[in-house]
Amino acid sequence: MILITGGAGYIGSHCAINLIEKNKEIVIFDNLELGHIETVETLKKLGKVEFYKGDLRNIEDIEGVFNKYKIDAVIHFAAYALVGESVINPAKYYRNNTFGTLNLLDTMVKFNVKKIVFSSTCATYGEPKYTPIDENHPQNPINPYGSSKLAVEKIMNDYDRAYGIKSIKLRYFNVAGADSKSRIGEWHNIETHLIPNILKSVIKKDQKFKIFGDDYNTKDGTCIRDYVNVEDLAQAHFLALSYLEKENKSDVFNLGTQDGQSVKEIFAICEEVLNQKIEVEITKKREGDPAILYADSSKARNILKWVPEKTIKDSIKKAWEWERVLKTYVEK
Ligand code: UDP
Repeated sequence: MILITGGAGYIGSHCAINLIEKNKEIVIFDNLELGHIETVETLKKLGKVEFYKGDLRNIEDIEGVFNKYKIDAVIHFAAYALVGESVINPAKYYRNNTFGTLNLLDTMVKFNVKKIVFSSTCATYGEPKYTPIDENHPQNPINPYGSSKLAVEKIMNDYDRAYGIKSIKLRYFNVAGADSKSRIGEWHNIETHLIPNILKSVIKKDQKFKIFGDDYNTKDGTCIRDYVNVEDLAQAHFLALSYLEKENKSDVFNLGTQDGQSVKEIFAICEEVLNQKIEVEITKKREGDPAILYADSSKARNILKWVPEKTIKDSIKKAWEWERVLKTYVEK
C-alpha cells in the first residue's frame, strides 16, 4: 500500500487519482486543515482508497497509520506552502514542514519502510544565478518556506546514509490546471495563486485581480514562472516511485516545462480561454518574489522518462472548468 500524506490537497489528490487509475492501493493521511473531505470522498468512489485523519506534528498519528496499514512506500505532500505566510510565521513552516517530516522519517525507520517521494520546491534555489535552473544550481532559499523544504532534502540524504531510506526529491516549479474530468482541482480556502485568482475575479466581481508589480527586469516587467500541469506532475510521482522500486537509489529532479510565462502572458491566455476582457489593477510587488524562475527539467525527462504533455492553455481551460464546479461546492 502507498501512503500519500496530504492526499486531500491539490497536488496530492491528483497524484492519488493517477495511482488509483493504475490500480494501486493507497491510504491518504491528511489533517484536513487545508485539504478537503469532499476530495477524499471523490477519490474513494474511484478505487481502493483508505483515509486516515492525522497530523504530521503528532507522531502517534503517524504511527497509527503505519500500524493500521502495511505501507510499502510513501509519497509526501503534506506541508504549508505559502511563501508570504512563511516570512511572517516561520515557526509554523519549520514545525510542520521540517519537524513533521522528521516524525514521518523516524516512523519509516521504525516500521522499516525504505522508499519516499518528496515534494520539494524551486524555492530551495532562491534568487536564480542563471536560468533555466538545473538541479546543480546553488540552493540559497530566500524565504522560510524554501528553507523548511531544503532542510528536509538534507535530512533525507542523512537518513539514506544512516538508515538506507531512499528518497526522490521532486523540486516543483509552479503548478497549474485540474483533473481532466473535473472531478477534483485546486481548492484553497484562502487563494493566493495567480491562475485561480484571475479566474475567481471573473466569478466574484468584488475580487478584482491584481498584478503584483510590473517593474521587474523582464520582457514586460512582470514575473516569469514555469507552470507545469498538475496531471503531468502527478505522472512524475508515479515515475519517481517506479524508479525507486527499480533502482533503489536516492536522487533529485526538477519538474517544470522548461518554458516561462510572465504574469501578463498568463492573464492574456486567461482572457483568450474565457473569451472575455478581465479587469486588472497593477499593485506593488509581493515580498519574496524572484523575477524569473524556470526549470531545466532535462534530468527528469532523460532518467525518469517524464514527458509533460499539457500546455499552459490546457491547464487554464481545466482550471476554469474546475472553478465552475468548485463554485457549486462553495455555494452549497
Ligand atoms: N501573482 C500576481 N497576482 C496574484 C497572484 C500572483 O501578480 O493575485 C504573481 C506573483 O507575484 C508571482 C506569480 O504571479 O510573480 C506566480 O505567483 P503564485 O502565487 O501563483 O506562485 P509562486 O510563484 O508564489 O509559487
